[in-house]
Amino acid sequence: MTGRFAPSPSGRMHLGNLWSCLLAWLAARSAGGGMVLRLEDLDPDRCRQEYCDQVMRDLEWLGLDWDGRPVYQSRRTEAYAWAFQTLEKQGRIYPCFCTRAERLAASAPHRSDGTAVYDGRCGRLSPAEREALFKVRRPAWRVRVPDEEISFPDRLQGYFSEQLARDCGDFILRRSDGVYAYQLAVVVDDACMGVTQVVRGSDLLSSTPRQLWLQEQLSLPHPEYGHLPLLLAPDGRRLAKRDRDLELGQLQGQYTAPELVGRLACAARLIDRPQAITPHELIPLFSWEKLPKEDMTISV
Ligand code: GLU
Repeated sequence: MTGRFAPSPSGRMHLGNLWSCLLAWLAARSAGGGMVLRLEDLDPDRCRQEYCDQVMRDLEWLGLDWDGRPVYQSRRTEAYAWAFQTLEKQGRIYPCFCTRAERLAASAPHRSDGTAVYDGRCGRLSPAEREALFKVRRPAWRVRVPDEEISFPDRLQGYFSEQLARDCGDFILRRSDGVYAYQLAVVVDDACMGVTQVVRGSDLLSSTPRQLWLQEQLSLPHPEYGHLPLLLAPDGRRLAKRDRDLELGQLQGQYTAPELVGRLACAARLIDRPQAITPHELIPLFSWEKLPKEDMTISV
């Protein structure tokens, strides 16, 4: 069994990232499993080496460790190119000349970003229309999804299913600037890194059917999934990198690492009171059955 951390180093981690990292680590370590680290630094406009270094220092500060060397997505272009070409040979990929949404594609998507289901219009262009458009614009590349229902048992959310064509639509695998998209990279990397258990926020629940389907097309194994409820700011908002007050740099001024871990562990219902505790001390206390299923507000 191998779990993973997959932070996006586009700034300092916030409480929501720490929540996912702590619980992913506990789920793996309590089952005697390995834990690997992948820095999802695909987007050169948003990610920097110094953020990657900071993420690793922050995980260490919290008391979370990982096995082996960290994997940087920015250095794995060849592996993504292999997957892309495999799908291309299967005749599933087409250029998309539409201008919107291309830039978002390489970031971890969130349902609240209002990403629309693409209607597949560029997939219906004639060869002549395509030729003409190639002369004026560099396209993004989409994969054509079938009219197929994908469902899977989630460790926390129960069965989740999506009708790919209706609920998701043809999605971007490569942006017009050549950067491979999150959905493709995550599937290739989870397989290459031997990840068998994915624990992450439920904002990514709706990405999972796409990832399961891509794994199928690329003959890669399916990990098991557990999607955590989200932590919300006291006013009910989703936590985001712009919430500076819930960012680790600020939190470190208020709490020691065991105090912060204790607050998260209490929210996870692994302990009754928010007392100081280390991740190692929590290992025997972890169980999937204890974890809450609903999003919750947390005040720190
Ligand atoms: N990099 C993503 C994030 O920080 C997580 C991706 C994943 O767990 O698949 O939100």
